[in-house]
Amino acid sequence: MSGRNFEKFVDLASKIIAVGKNYADHMKEMGYAAAKVDPVIFMKPTSAFIVEGQKIEFPPGCQNLHHEVELGVVIGKTAKKIPEAEALKYVAGYTIALDITARDLQDKAKKEGLPWTIPKGFDTSCPVGPFVHKDRVPDPQNLKLWCKVNGQTRQNGCTKDMIYSVPYLISYVSNYFTLYPGDVILTGTPAGVGPVKEGDVIEAGLDELSQASFEVAKSDA
Ligand code: MG
Repeated sequence: MSGRNFEKFVDLASKIIAVGKNYADHMKEMGYAAAKVDPVIFMKPTSAFIVEGQKIEFPPGCQNLHHEVELGVVIGKTAKKIPEAEALKYVAGYTIALDITARDLQDKAKKEGLPWTIPKGFDTSCPVGPFVHKDRVPDPQNLKLWCKVNGQTRQNGCTKDMIYSVPYLISYVSNYFTLYPGDVILTGTPAGVGPVKEGDVIEAGLDELSQASFEVAKSDA
């Protein structure tokens, strides 16, 4: 892992792999059946990244934009078909992340059996906070995740409530996609997702380790 500046994982990343339905309380609020199945995997392009100082934008056609706060896992070295027991060795660190979702476009896509590429992957749909080196995170399954909108708490979860753990997800994903240094895995959201409007400020944090705030831009539509 030497020689790479993971503070700038956004510039290193080749892809963002995201996990759906990884917290039972969020599945309940969305009305998803709690059947034990393989993790739901989708992708965002790296053009979705924004960092603090940049604004979240509504994609065209969206009237219902939701925040989903998530633990982001930053990969530290090339990982292909990695066993779960080895998986954490491939982690460089962590970040707070938002899986910004055009919920109305996603609902339409679900109904029509279409991919979530636009509803989940549009420009600005992946705000991320500062990088946290893994040495500062002794247990990735015991991190508080919170999200406030205009100062009011909307989400307050803990990674201990994940259905699929971080090592399991790295192992599972690496069976299908070779992971490269800087790649990010978004590990799913706890309950409390909800809409934001133009001018709102979304603050998100991973314990006291990584925090960031993002304004929702005025639409030019
Ligand atoms: Mg999500």
